[in-house]
Amino acid sequence: IIEIKDIKRDFPLGDEVIHVLKGIDLKINKGEYVALMGPSGSGKSTLMNLLGCLDTPTSGTYVLNGKLVSKMHDDELAEIRNKEIGFVFQTFNLMPRTTALDNVALPMVYAGFSKSERNERATEVLTQVGLADRMDHKPNQLSGGQRQRVAVGRALVNKPAIILADEPTGNLDSKTSVEIMGLFNEIHANGNTVILVTHEEDIAAYAHRVIRLRDGVIESDTMNTNINIHEKN
Ligand code: ATP
Ligand code: MG
Repeated sequence: IIEIKDIKRDFPLGDEVIHVLKGIDLKINKGEYVALMGPSGSGKSTLMNLLGCLDTPTSGTYVLNGKLVSKMHDDELAEIRNKEIGFVFQTFNLMPRTTALDNVALPMVYAGFSKSERNERATEVLTQVGLADRMDHKPNQLSGGQRQRVAVGRALVNKPAIILADEPTGNLDSKTSVEIMGLFNEIHANGNTVILVTHEEDIAAYAHRVIRLRDGVIESDTMNTNINIHEKN
């Protein structure tokens, strides 16, 4: 489903160029559950933004579902992003003046669905993430965990095959983090490919595969042996 070869990403910094990703090769199959770890500044978010088609590499190739996305233009990328990928951010990135229902439905506006289709699907997704009784609440009327559930709902609404999450529990307390990870477990169990960034070993333990970045390269890529402690939940 995801295949990247020798991906590099440079950023200009004043008169210099910094090499953030220095040649990443990675294959992720349909239905995998992957945690991406590594020190601050190692390039995790840069890699996630590339995987999520929010950015394109300086060099190297990225094939997503058989399509060469690394060479695509912005409008083509936007379409792929909207249809095939759900992105969850550490800071939720919700629209502040908009209800939970309309926040979740937003990607369907871009995809051209009618209002009634959007409301029906957004209601279904909010129910799935446990917020059936919070549809009309605005973000500031919701707890952090509930806001992240809305953000997860928004990521799911167009039924993407891949869910990417950059430190989805980074702003949550440990109890709420466990709840949100339960939600990612369900999403994975429903057949989605899940890739998430985390600094915490406890969170990475939910995934089946752990990839560690260091200084712009993959330092290790291992199958998780501790997963069964969470499978019981
Ligand atoms: P953290 O754990 O702190 O979130 P990270 O592993 O996600 O770190 P990135 O955000 O990918 O790290 O950043 C890696 C490096 O790339 C950093 O040194 C950062 O300053 C640099 N960088 C990222 N985006 C840009 C940009 N748009 N322009 C210039 N430099 C950038
Ligand atoms: Mg980051």
